Amino acid sequence: MSQVRVRFAPSPTGFLHIGGVRTALFNWLFARQQKGVFVLRIEDTDQDRSTDESIQAILEGLKWVGLDWDEGPFRQTERIDLYRSYAMQLLEKGQAYWCSCKAEELEARRKEAEAKGLSPKYDSRCRDRGQANPAGDAALRFKAPLEGETVVDDLIKGKIVFDNSVQDDLIILRSNGYPTYNFSVVVDDALMNITHVVRGDDHLTNTPRQIPIFQALGFPVPQFGHLPMILGSDKSRLSKRHGATSIMAYKEMGYLPDAMVNYLVRLGWSCGDQELFARQELIEKFSWKNVQTSPAVFNPEKLIWVNAEYIKISQPDQVAQALVPLLEAAGLTDEVRAVSPDWLAQLVVLVKERAKTLVEMVEWVRPYFGQAVTFDEEAAKKFLTPAVAPVLGKLLVRFESFPVFSKQQWEEAFKQLVEAEGLKMGQLAQPVRVALTGRTASPGLFEVMEVLGRDRTLFRLRQGLDRASQA
Ligand code: GLU
Repeated sequence: MSQVRVRFAPSPTGFLHIGGVRTALFNWLFARQQKGVFVLRIEDTDQDRSTDESIQAILEGLKWVGLDWDEGPFRQTERIDLYRSYAMQLLEKGQAYWCSCKAEELEARRKEAEAKGLSPKYDSRCRDRGQANPAGDAALRFKAPLEGETVVDDLIKGKIVFDNSVQDDLIILRSNGYPTYNFSVVVDDALMNITHVVRGDDHLTNTPRQIPIFQALGFPVPQFGHLPMILGSDKSRLSKRHGATSIMAYKEMGYLPDAMVNYLVRLGWSCGDQELFARQELIEKFSWKNVQTSPAVFNPEKLIWVNAEYIKISQPDQVAQALVPLLEAAGLTDEVRAVSPDWLAQLVVLVKERAKTLVEMVEWVRPYFGQAVTFDEEAAKKFLTPAVAPVLGKLLVRFESFPVFSKQQWEEAFKQLVEAEGLKMGQLAQPVRVALTGRTASPGLFEVMEVLGRDRTLFRLRQGLDRASQA
């Protein structure tokens, strides 16, 4: 068996769509599993719609989700001469011809055919004219087979048979000398020795157009696989109407790249009823056989669930690293610079059960930066009252007597005080919580103290006491 070579071939005409990421991901998993090669090719021959910005977005998106490529990025616009020379080969071999039909004529004829209920395909009137292209304004068309069948043994959909007689004589070079998608894609897949062409099934109808071109050029035909589309909840093709579709939007919304990968791979692929997979496990378990043949429905709630799971199971230092840009975006740049990566990881452990996204996590961790606390006014009014000031004062005295923080010791001291004062736990816990975090909801009090450390815990308790005494 020759080495597996797959590719991802996006057109840089916008941001990187999550459907594109899923196509890239399936190819990447297969390449890594088979110790093969993953090629990145930018299909930028549509000069009106391709932008450098979009190329950057594609590279950035793939890097973010950790899909590294082995070759490329190749840009088709740097390979135009190559496509032209292969087109000329077809012309010389009599497998292509110059077509001088003008766009308006073609359009009029197409409409006429349609009105008569006939096939709108090109009527091949230039096919046997054997004309040259003296003015340089003709298009070059491929002589598609007129009869027979083209069979695609699809990796995902199984055997599909296409009738050749319905195929158009495709334009392979436009009158401006630029290759069309269906031609450049074949030349590239052939020259890049792609063994498996796997793409969205919106390209399924292109495959019977491309196979005869491989054959005419004398190249081996790769295997094809067509992935079912991703749909929105209303079963129409996933688009902006259903929410964000750019992969980088999910970074901004606080999703972890591994969670995105896990979610996207399960959108169309399954392995029993297992939901969560480590990356290496995915590489080992992936198979085309288990890619579903029907479209997948994008489910934002499930994505959130997967993300929440990843926040819990990922290494805290990795989550902390991913959190930093979001903290910065939330105006906490100086605060983040003032702390160590280890402390940030500790902070993540403190709140990871509570945050389903990193954006939520920013709000959970916000109270732990800085020396002083910022009170939620309502919480402070309700819980830091003159009535609790004496007991808060006593707690402070006890805590101050300990030279270092010990969770067990401080918790013990807290309980003893509650008992001695004849209080219920909550009667002291809530004021202390508000004193330490400014809010009425937080993780366990003593975990909070551990993250704050002895000095800041004492500082904030004093701050709370002041507030309670002045209320
Ligand atoms: N450039 C095409 C697209 O972005 C992909 C073509 C292919 O994978 O063959 O839809």
